[in-house]
Amino acid sequence: MFNLMKMFNECKHEKVSYLVKSSYCPDCGAYIENKFYLVRCSCCNIKRKGLLRGEEIIAEDTFCHNCGSNRFYIEELPSPTIFDMEYMVIKKEAKVLAKRHPTCQIWVETPQIIKPKMLTLND
Ligand SMILES: [Zn+2]
Ligand SMILES: [Zn+2]
Repeated sequence: MFNLMKMFNECKHEKVSYLVKSSYCPDCGAYIENKFYLVRCSCCNIKRKGLLRGEEIIAEDTFCHNCGSNRFYIEELPSPTIFDMEYMVIKKEAKVLAKRHPTCQIWVETPQIIKPKMLTLND
């Protein structure tokens, strides 16, 4: 059996599709909001490949392959686009734990009882 707490701490929310803006993680129950970022060169504005280091978004290469500048800025995308897939940095931000969600508590605390229909068998 797996340890749920341990799982939440280590969960990368891999089952949360990056094609949706937000959803609950099926592995740990956290509410995940997808954020999409592009790294662009401050000098020539070209898209630079970005990566996530911890919580920080950085350019993969120190210098721009187009103009040689080492300065870049981060642009947040409102939604993912197919053209930016190669460059886009996806950040999965966990928001609220599902177990604190009132709807989930109702489901857990009041299970539906289905009574067997024994009298209707020989009708
Ligand atoms: Zn998760
Ligand atoms: Zn540049």
